[in-house]
Amino acid sequence: MSGTPGTPAHAGRDGGRRLWNEAVETLSREAIAELQLRRLQYQVRYNYERSPVHRRKFEEAGARPEDIRSLEDFARIPVMTKDEHRRIQEESLERHGSPFTLMACAAPEEIVRINATSGTTGVPTLYTLTAHDVAIVNEMHARKYWRTGIRPGHVMLQALSLSMFTGGLPLSQGIMHMGACVVPVGIEGGTKRVLDIARITRPHAIVATPSFGQYLIEEAPRLTGRPATELGLRWFFCAGEGGGSDPQVRRALAEGFGARVFDHTGGGHAFHGISCEAQDEGCTGMHLVSEDHCLLELVDPGTRAPIALADGAVGEMVFTFLDWRGGPFMRYALGDLLQVRTRPCSCGLPGIRFAILGRIPLDEPDKRPLIETWLQQPGMLGLRYTFLKTHMKSWPHDGTMDWLWPAAERLGIPIALLAGDFLPLVGQIAERHPRLKLIVDHFGVRRLNVDDAAFVTIPEVVALARHPNIAVKVTGGPQYVSDSYPFKSLTPHYKAIYDAFGPRRMFWGTDITRMPCTWRECVTAFTEHQTWIPASDLPLIMGRGIADWLGWRRKWD
Ligand SMILES: [Zn+2]
Repeated sequence: MSGTPGTPAHAGRDGGRRLWNEAVETLSREAIAELQLRRLQYQVRYNYERSPVHRRKFEEAGARPEDIRSLEDFARIPVMTKDEHRRIQEESLERHGSPFTLMACAAPEEIVRINATSGTTGVPTLYTLTAHDVAIVNEMHARKYWRTGIRPGHVMLQALSLSMFTGGLPLSQGIMHMGACVVPVGIEGGTKRVLDIARITRPHAIVATPSFGQYLIEEAPRLTGRPATELGLRWFFCAGEGGGSDPQVRRALAEGFGARVFDHTGGGHAFHGISCEAQDEGCTGMHLVSEDHCLLELVDPGTRAPIALADGAVGEMVFTFLDWRGGPFMRYALGDLLQVRTRPCSCGLPGIRFAILGRIPLDEPDKRPLIETWLQQPGMLGLRYTFLKTHMKSWPHDGTMDWLWPAAERLGIPIALLAGDFLPLVGQIAERHPRLKLIVDHFGVRRLNVDDAAFVTIPEVVALARHPNIAVKVTGGPQYVSDSYPFKSLTPHYKAIYDAFGPRRMFWGTDITRMPCTWRECVTAFTEHQTWIPASDLPLIMGRGIADWLGWRRKWD
C-alpha cells in the first residue's frame, strides 16, 4: 500500500482500470483512519515546529504535538477561519515583509507555486505549495477525472477563468498529469473564442461553471449557427460555483450539450471531490477522493463542538492537510455546511460522500458572533428562511438548524419560516423554545400550488395557534388562488387564521412582485372586501401587530 502521489499502480493507457490509484482509493474505513492518524501525528509536529501560527493554536489549547494520540485529542485545537488566515497574512506581511512567513512551514526556496482563492470577498487567501504538494494536487485531479471515464487521448477544454489560479494552472497541470490533453482556452477571450476553439479542437469534455455552460447553450446557435449538442462534448464538469449540485441545472446542461454532467471541487489544495451518476437516492453530492491527504471533520457551526462523521451527519466542514509541506492548513474552517454519507454509494465507487449545503446560514463563519449582535444591525429585526433551494429542503429536519433555535431564543431574534412542508415541526420548536418568536409565512401554504392544494395545510396552521409564540403572516394570498380581484376565495382562509390567532398574531403582507394584481388591489382586497374584520382590528393586522411582534420601535409611537 502506498499513499504516495505520482505513478498509479498500473500506469499507461490502461483504460480498463476503474480507479486512478486503486491501492489508496479502495482502502477500508479502518485503514484510512489508521493512515490519517499516522500522518496527522507527523503533520502536527511538523506544523508546530515550523510555524508560529500553528504553535499558537497548540498553546491556546494547552497542548503539545505529542498529546495528539487520537482525533478526539486533535479536536481540542482551535479552528482557523478564512478571516483569521487573512489577518495572519497581513500581520506576516507587516512584520516579515512576506505574507507567508507566519503560516508557511517549508523554506522559501522549496515553495514552487502560490495559489489563491478567487478573492470575491476581500483579500484572497494564499496557498503555498512545494513540489511535493503540487504532486498531491495533480494526483487528486487525476483521481477525479479517471472515475468519470476520462482517459489519455481525451481532450478537455478548460473554460474557466485562468486568472483565478486554482481553476487555472493547477487544473491544467492535473489534467496533463493523468495523461489527458488539456486545451486551456480560458474565458478571458470571450464566449465566441471558447466556441471557436471548441470547433477546431473537438474536445470530449469541458470544465466550466454551470452558469457559463448554460450561457454557451443559449449563445451557441447565434454565434456558430449550430446548437451546443453539435459540439460533440461527452462530459461537462461543473466547477467554481454551487450550481453543479442542483439537479435542475445538471439536467439543463445534460440536455443542452448531450453530455454526462459531473460536479467537482478542489482546486489548489487538498480537499477534492467529484459527483457520480447515482444521484437519485436523495444523496446528491460528491465522493471525497483525497482522504489520505485531507482529514475532514464536522463541527457544530455555533459551538464548534465535534460532530461524528456518521451517515447523514451535518455540520460545518473543518479540514486538515496531511502529508503536506508548503502551507499546511490545520483545522481550517472554510465556512461551508456539509452533509456526509458514509454508507456505500449505489454507483459502486469507494469513498464517503459529501454534499455542500451552502454557507453557514446567517453568517460567514469568520463573522461567527454575528448572531450575537444580529439585532444591532440598523433596521434588522429578525431572520427569515425560505428553504426554496433543493438542498435546503431537509434543513428543518436534519439537524442543520438545531443550533439556531436556542441561540435565537436566547438573543430574542424572531424567525420567519416558509413552513408549509413542516408545520407540525414548527409546533415542536415553539414548544421547546417558548421564548422564541416564530412567524409562519405565506399562510403556511404548500407553495407552488393553488386553491385547495395550496390551502390544504390550513388545519395544521390553525393547530399551531395554541403556541402563543407563533404568529401567521397572510402574505401573497392572490398568487395562491385562481379567482381574480377581489379574490373572494381567500376569505375562508383569512377567517380561519383570524379566529385561531386573533388580530395580534395575524399579519397581512403582499409579496407584491409576484402578485397577479396591483398594489392597490392587494390592499383593498383585504381592507375593503374583508368586511367581517372589526375596523379596530384592521390597523393591527395591517402593520401594528407585526411591528409589536418584532419589537420594532416606531418613530410615531
Ligand atoms: Zn456514487
